[in-house]
Amino acid sequence: MSRPTTAATVTAREVHLVRRPSGMPDPDDFALVDRDLDAPGEGEVLVANHHFSVDPYMRGRMNDVPSYVPPFRLHEAMDGRAVGEVVASRSDDPDGPAVGDLVTSNLAWRTHGVVPAEQVQKVVAPEGVEPSAFLGVLGVPGLTAWVGLLDKAAFRPGDAVFVSGAAGAVGSVVGQLAKLKGASRVVGSAGSADKVRWLTEELGFDAAFDYKDAPVVDQLREAAPDGIDVYFDNVGADHLEAAIACANDFARVAACGAIAHYNDTDSDPTPGPRNLFQIVKKRLTIQGFIVTDSIGRMRPFLDEVTPWVAEGRLGFAETTVEGIDHAVEAFRGMLRGENTGKMIVKL
Ligand code: NDP
Repeated sequence: MSRPTTAATVTAREVHLVRRPSGMPDPDDFALVDRDLDAPGEGEVLVANHHFSVDPYMRGRMNDVPSYVPPFRLHEAMDGRAVGEVVASRSDDPDGPAVGDLVTSNLAWRTHGVVPAEQVQKVVAPEGVEPSAFLGVLGVPGLTAWVGLLDKAAFRPGDAVFVSGAAGAVGSVVGQLAKLKGASRVVGSAGSADKVRWLTEELGFDAAFDYKDAPVVDQLREAAPDGIDVYFDNVGADHLEAAIACANDFARVAACGAIAHYNDTDSDPTPGPRNLFQIVKKRLTIQGFIVTDSIGRMRPFLDEVTPWVAEGRLGFAETTVEGIDHAVEAFRGMLRGENTGKMIVKL
C-alpha cells in the first residue's frame, strides 16, 4: 500500500548540455548545475538515483537535428535510463510507487528528480543480481539484443552469427543469446585484447578478434570460414562492409547502430560500405530497428532472460564510474571503448 509522503526540498546536482559538440564531445560542452527541486506535487514522486546509464544514442541527441528521438535541449538536465529509490511520494495509487521502492525512470544525468508517479516503474532485482542490471542486461540494452537477434534478424538454430561491438552492453548479450539458442558459430569483434579474451574465455563466443589489429574483412573471413547467416551491426562502416562480404546467400542483418559514425563531422565522414551491390546478388535482408518500437516485448524478454541471468548462464559485466561529477568522463570513455559491458554512473 502506497503511503503519500511529503519531504523537505532537495538540491539536485544535474549535468546540462550547454553547447552542441562537434566530433568527440568536449568536457566544456557540459556543465554541472545545482538546482533546488520543488517538493513533489499531487501525484508526483521524488526519486534519489543510485545509478544511471550513459549510452551511445545520447551522442545523436546532442546534435540539433530531427531524429527518432528529440535532441537534448541546451541548459537543461539531459535524460536517459536511471535506477533509484523513491524518497517522497504523493501518489495515492495503492499500486503506485511508495517510499523505499526501487524504480527505473528516465531521470538520468542528475542525482534526484521529481516526476509524475506513472513515469517510474517499480523493479525487484533477482536474488544475487544488483539493481544496476536494469540499465544493462535486464534493461533496454538486453531487450535491444533480444529483439534485434530474434525479431529483426529472424535468428534460426544453426545460423552462424557475427556481432560487432561484441564486448559492449548490447553486443555481449547478442552473442550469448545466439549460443543459448543453438547458433552453429558465434563471432565477435571488439577493440582490445582483454575484451577478446573475455568474449571467448568467459562468455563462450567461438571466436573473436580485435578490429584494430588488421582489416575487419580479413579477420572475419578467418574467424567465420563458412560465412555468416546473421550480422548484428553495432558499428557500421568497415564492419558492415566486411559482414556483407562474408555473408552467405539470404543472410539477415539487424542494423542496430553505427557507432563508427557517431562523432563524424560534415568535413570528415567515416567511409561507408563500398560493396552494396552484393546485397542484391546474395539476396540479403538488412532491417534497421529502434528498440522503443518494441518496448511491448519487455515482458517476454524478461521472462526468458531473467532466469538465465540469475542462474549465471548469461554473463554480463558493468564498468562503473563513481559520482555525478565524473558522468561526462564516463560518457566520453564509453565512446572511446573504456567500458567492458555496460557503462554505468554510480551515485
Ligand atoms: P556499448 O556498451 O557497446 O559501448 C559502445 C562501444 O562501442 C564502446 O565500448 C567501443 O568498444 C565501441 N566503439 C566505439 N567507437 C567504435 C568504432 N569506431 N568502431 C568500433 N567500435 C567502436 O554500447 P551499447 O551496447 O549501449 O550500444 C551498442 C550499439 O547499439 C550502439 O551503436 C548503439 O547506438 C546501438 N543501440 C541501438 C538501439 C536501437 O534501438 N537501435 C538501442 C540501444 C543501442 P570497443 O572497445 O569494442 O571499440
